[in-house]
Amino acid sequence: MAKFEEYKDIYVFVEQENGNIAEVGYELISEARKLVATIPAMGYKVVGVLLGNGIKDKAQEVIAHGADKVIVVDDELLKDYSTQFYADALTQLINKYKPDSFLTGATPLGRDLAPRVAARINAGLTADATKIEVDQEEAANGVALLDVTRPTFGGNLFGTIVCKNTRPQMATIRPKVFELAPVDESRTGEVEEFKPTWTTTEPEVFVEKVIEKVKGDVDITKADILVGAGRGAEGCLDLVQQVADELGGVVCCSRAVVEDGYMDKDRQVGQTGKTVRPSLYLACGISGAVQHCAGMDKSDMIISINRDPQAEIFSISNMGFVGDVNKVLPLLVESIKAAKSE
Ligand SMILES: Cc1cc2nc3c(=O)[nH]c(=O)nc-3n(C[C@H](O)[C@H](O)[C@H](O)COP(=O)(O)OP(=O)(O)OC[C@H]3O[C@@H](n4cnc5c(N)ncnc54)[C@H](O)[C@@H]3O)c2cc1C
Repeated sequence: MAKFEEYKDIYVFVEQENGNIAEVGYELISEARKLVATIPAMGYKVVGVLLGNGIKDKAQEVIAHGADKVIVVDDELLKDYSTQFYADALTQLINKYKPDSFLTGATPLGRDLAPRVAARINAGLTADATKIEVDQEEAANGVALLDVTRPTFGGNLFGTIVCKNTRPQMATIRPKVFELAPVDESRTGEVEEFKPTWTTTEPEVFVEKVIEKVKGDVDITKADILVGAGRGAEGCLDLVQQVADELGGVVCCSRAVVEDGYMDKDRQVGQTGKTVRPSLYLACGISGAVQHCAGMDKSDMIISINRDPQAEIFSISNMGFVGDVNKVLPLLVESIKAAKSE
């Protein structure tokens, strides 16, 4: 028997909080669908894994987003996230079902849970992946080996990591890296319940009180139009805001602007900030450092304003204005107003 013959399918951890499913789970299911489509001969399925309490009815939603099967672990001990019980349940689930690969969102929860489980089952884990492919040469030999790419050396290089010797092949992937596939409410799939065996029901850490997360005033990852301010626009942030208001968009920024104290970190786009994928990203006075671009280069349309014609940002832009933001932005406000009144 081949070494990993009993391991099969691509599993995706579908994170939820109070029954609200984090979008990254669906992004990973969408990408997993693309991956299994590259190895039709292997007959791989996309399996969603849903942990929580009172969440059984969410399984159909996961199927509608592209899962062939959903394994639900519904238990009182999983009501709120705890490393202990989630890691216990997931470890047992993986040991029973033997997924060939297991993908998790690189959210705070995913970053806590996935390495813990990987260590328990002695599996390899690639953190913060930005691209996943199935090695087609290996696939021809019946092995669905994943080539998992992630930024390294401060984002200046990309490394591709393969886990040849252990299963499942685990990876965490940041939200917004992969595109969401359209939802198909008519999709059908299998739902299976899994009951973990608890060695103890006594929590090692007590949750005394769950405090509602303090929500920032905006979530830049959800905005359809983003106007990004770089250090070059620090002197005219009011104009940047005006353009965003006229476009019905939201202002975000480079790390330089956060470091200079002009905006909060939750507005930062990039490798150590957020990954965004709006329809339009208007970059104002942003140089286009690789660490910034890593967080926004998948935007549908990128328009940049920079006074330096050699600025790197132009190399990933669909359209660019070489000029001073102090002069270009007021003109932009006027032309948007004029276009709206037509
Ligand atoms: C490990 C690591 C992680 C990082 N993570 C991130 C991250 O998540 N996000 C991020 O953004 N950066 C990140 N950085 C920092 C990144 O390398 C850059 O330093 C940063 O993105 C630069 O921001 P900026 O382009 O706004 O500023 P600058 O590099 O100072 O560029 C300013 C630009 O504005 C232009 N300009 C100046 N004045 C005007 C004007 N009046 N009109 C028009 N244009 C003008 C200039 O020509 C220049 O291109 C990271 C760095 C490291 C090492």
